[in-house]
Amino acid sequence: MMGLLDEGGFGVTSNPDDASLVVVNTCSFIQEAREESVKALVALAEQNKEIIIAGCLAQHFQTELLDSIPEAKAIIGTGDYQHILDVLQRIDNGERVNKVSKIPTFVGDEYLARYRKKGQSVAYLKVAEGCDYNCAFCIIPKLRGKQRSRTIESIVSEAQQLEKQGVKELILISQITTNYGLDIYGRPALGELLRELGNVMIPWIRVHYSYPTGLTEDVIKAFKEVPNLLPYLDLPLQHSHPDVLKAMNRPWQADLNTSLLDKIRLELPEAVFRTSFIVGFPGETDDHFDHLVSFVQRQEFDHIGVFTFSAEEGTKAASLSNPVPFSVAQARKDKIISIQQPIAAKKNQKSIGRILDVLIEGKDKETGEILGRCSRFAPEVDGSVRIGLGENSKELKKGMMVPVNITGSYLYDLTGEVVGAKDMVLSIRK
Ligand code: SF4
Repeated sequence: MMGLLDEGGFGVTSNPDDASLVVVNTCSFIQEAREESVKALVALAEQNKEIIIAGCLAQHFQTELLDSIPEAKAIIGTGDYQHILDVLQRIDNGERVNKVSKIPTFVGDEYLARYRKKGQSVAYLKVAEGCDYNCAFCIIPKLRGKQRSRTIESIVSEAQQLEKQGVKELILISQITTNYGLDIYGRPALGELLRELGNVMIPWIRVHYSYPTGLTEDVIKAFKEVPNLLPYLDLPLQHSHPDVLKAMNRPWQADLNTSLLDKIRLELPEAVFRTSFIVGFPGETDDHFDHLVSFVQRQEFDHIGVFTFSAEEGTKAASLSNPVPFSVAQARKDKIISIQQPIAAKKNQKSIGRILDVLIEGKDKETGEILGRCSRFAPEVDGSVRIGLGENSKELKKGMMVPVNITGSYLYDLTGEVVGAKDMVLSIRK
């Protein structure tokens, strides 16, 4: 939408105070996110801002949302954002616009305008939209529709445009990236896509939302072959116990978790694993939870996200019996976090003494340290590399990729010093 607005001659700002009209791209994944979205809408309405409500909350509540926020000029669904300029025109003509397709079918392509802030070195690239699965806890298929993939040519063409704009890290996203291509090619085509992207001169390509079943021989082979593809496996496993996975309607995953992780570790010894779990799913017993605890202890993931189950209206899980009390779910979450913390710290310690490429992203306003990320850390969800203010760090600018000698580690972050050519030679000789 920002790309289209910019192309249409509108000024784009991320500060609502500077804007005469505010587009709020909302989330509706869980109740907490909905509340946050509504809070933002109400706050803007109270400032008498003209509002357009876009995204998942708009798709979810449609007319009801438009009725309850009279200040809203329009509502735009998840498959309708490409009509933003037309919607503005209609608002200008005095209309209150409801532009929400019942079933979203649109997916963007390389010709859709894209807005990038100057100096942004990370770009997200959507390879597909929607999901054909039906996990019991998840409302996404209802809000985003069935899977529709872009062609390999379209994705590569957009990646080439981003390369020309100086992007250093490309992150492939969709609802379920390992199923990429199934709808248009009749087979998952992630391996082919990754090999093609290997010809695009962007130093880091990262894949988000890989599902265990989709990590086929071919995809693992692509991870081995494609030089700029980071061996970073973002696998939202959700649970380890077969009964819970079955209740979550993810039965296809139950037997795979352990064997698959072992296999990847064998094939990709440098692999970095991020996963997420839901605790307190209806019917999760102490035994089920203990199974998850052992799994987390044994697997030693690099990064973990843990969420307590949230019953979402309109999903199968919302009506399941045997709910787990919130206090129990919270205690389980705390336990998984306390098990994971020393593991994460140990993993970070292993980087000490190594020289790693670090992408410079900014400055810590309080300490003055320069902040960057090594390839083990994905933006926004993982840690940072904090760089001391030595001789070699004076010229550092956002978007640069520089070698950093890792000298210290915390629970989530690393610290280090930029090294020059001489230091690198010495470190290899010693
Ligand atoms: S695969 Fe992901 S997006 Fe699709 S239904 Fe399951 S959790 Fe939701």
